[in-house]
Amino acid sequence: MRRTPRPLVAGNWKMHGLKSSLREARAVATSLAKGAFSCDVMICPPATLLRPMKEAVQGSKLKLGGQDCHASSQGAHTGDVSAEMLKDAGAGAVIVGHSERRADHGETNMQVRSKAAAAHRAGLVAIICVGETLAERKAGAARRVVGHQLKGSLPVTANEKNTVIAYEPVWAIGTGLTPTVDDVADVHSHIRKRLGALMSEGAPDRVRLLYGGSVKPANAEELLAIKNVDGALVGGASLKARDFLMIVSASG
Ligand code: PEP
Repeated sequence: MRRTPRPLVAGNWKMHGLKSSLREARAVATSLAKGAFSCDVMICPPATLLRPMKEAVQGSKLKLGGQDCHASSQGAHTGDVSAEMLKDAGAGAVIVGHSERRADHGETNMQVRSKAAAAHRAGLVAIICVGETLAERKAGAARRVVGHQLKGSLPVTANEKNTVIAYEPVWAIGTGLTPTVDDVADVHSHIRKRLGALMSEGAPDRVRLLYGGSVKPANAEELLAIKNVDGALVGGASLKARDFLMIVSASG
């Protein structure tokens, strides 16, 4: 019998957020302190807001993460941020291989794997994103593409504690479109099986598999109830505390 991992609902703020946005994080932190939620809750703000957000929500259950990291711990890489720097600023996790990074910056599976390994080296949880394009889904290649990305992006250091997988169909991100419940269940079960061949015994059942792509208060309950869905990675709907908290509540 698979032991269900504790769900995680993580907000990806992308390139949104100024100091004034800290009030949204504070509102989430305050609600977490008041209610008994059965999931972990995380916000991944832009790197510039990590330290101030850490200070704004100090002492709360709200976890923080980065949105990307360089594979090296330091060096001549203008504009990049290392996993160690994210950790130093207050992050406990980092998203790697988001489809916007894969598309905008041409990141390959090999680079994503190096970044995930860097996250582990720094003591961060790596949230590794995988997902097919619309053309790939229409061609019936969703499972194959996701399986290939998973194999190529997962470092040997991955275990159930330091790694989370986020299935994010590229065509569902920021579009308001979502796959059917059956399609999400199918890909998540495929990911779980593929992890069986990629990780040591026991770990694949305990790795958290998040669904991401147009998760909103209106569809969160249905998506989060799907077998093998252990939480959500939420973009647009995580920017407002009210919407984000409705999604958090939907996780049970
Ligand atoms: C994301 O950026 O990871 C995401 C899922 O975005 P959205 O929820 O806006 O589709």
